[in-house]
Amino acid sequence: MGDDFEERNVRIIVTNGVITNIEEISRTPDIWIFPGFFNAHTHLGDTIAMDIDANGPIGQLVAPPDGLKHRLLRAATPAMCVEAMNASIRTMADTGTYGFADFREGGVEGARYLQEANAECSLDSAVFGRDGGEKISDGLGVSSTRHYGEGLTKIIEESRADGRIIAFHAGEKDAMDVDSALAFDPDMLIHCTHATSKQIRTIADAGIPVVICPRSNWKLGVTSSGKNPPVHEMIDAGIELWLGTDNVMFVQPDMSAEMSFCHYVYGIDAQTIMKMAVGGAHILDMNYGIHEQNTARFNRYNTARLNAKFSKNILNTIINRLNPLGLEGSLLN
Ligand SMILES: [Zn+2]
Repeated sequence: MGDDFEERNVRIIVTNGVITNIEEISRTPDIWIFPGFFNAHTHLGDTIAMDIDANGPIGQLVAPPDGLKHRLLRAATPAMCVEAMNASIRTMADTGTYGFADFREGGVEGARYLQEANAECSLDSAVFGRDGGEKISDGLGVSSTRHYGEGLTKIIEESRADGRIIAFHAGEKDAMDVDSALAFDPDMLIHCTHATSKQIRTIADAGIPVVICPRSNWKLGVTSSGKNPPVHEMIDAGIELWLGTDNVMFVQPDMSAEMSFCHYVYGIDAQTIMKMAVGGAHILDMNYGIHEQNTARFNRYNTARLNAKFSKNILNTIINRLNPLGLEGSLLN
C-alpha cells in the first residue's frame, strides 16, 4: 500500500477505473496487489533485431547513424516495425508493466509507428523522439552529446520552447558525455553507468532523475562490476532512480527480470527496487501507488497458483521471483 509498499490485508474497490475505497479485512488473501511497473527506458523499435548474433564495441551496434541496429531499422518495412513494437508492448503488458518511456528513432514516421503499435494495449507512454520525431512526441531523446554537432543547442531550445521533456543518454560507456549533457539542464538522464562522484553531486543538486538499465549495461559490456552504475552512491546522494530495460534487441522488456538482476548484482533492498520499478510514471506526472482516488494501475498476483504463498516477505518475493503465470488480468490470463 501507499508509496512505501507497506503490507496490509485489504479489499480494494475500483469504480470506473479509479480506486474509490481501500478497506481493511481480517483474513490474509491469496491475491497480492502491488503497483504496476513503469519501464522508464526502452527502444521498442529494436524488437526487429531481437537476439541477433552481434559482437563488437557498443558504437558498432547501437550508435547512430550507422550502427547495426540503425541499419536494420532502415531495412524494416513500416508494417514490420509496427508489428514488432506491438509484440513487445504486449509482452510488457503481460509482465505487469502499465507504462513505458521509449527513445524512438526514425523521425516523425518512427514516432507515428509507435503510436500505432500502442493503439491496441494503450499502455501509458512517454515517447522521446529525435530527427524531427520529437515534434509529435512527449519529449526529445538525445542519444549522446558525442553524436551531435553544434546543431544540438537549437534542437534543445526548440523542444524546450514547445514544452517537451529533454532526456539524454549519458555516461553509458565512460564519463565523457555527462558534463556536456548536464550543461543543457536536462529533465532526465539515462544510464550514468560511469558518472563520477562530482557528476553525481551535480545531478543530485539539480534534482535530475536517472534511469539505470543494468542488464543492458552488462550485455553491452559497458560494465562488469556491481560498482557501475554507482547505484548506492546515487541513492545516497538523493538521486531519484528509475529502472529501464533499454534495447529490446538485447534485453527482454520484462521489469521482473530487471528487478531481480538489480537485487542480485547490486544488492539493492526490495523497497528501493520497487520504487525504482514504479517511479518512472512521474515522467507522465502520474503516480502508480495504491491510494484512494488514484487510477487503478496495479497488479494482481495469485499466490495460490505458485509457491509464492509460502513467502515470509512479500516485497522480497515480488522483486526476486515474480512469474507472469501468477499475474491475473494481464493479456496472458
Ligand atoms: Zn537507451
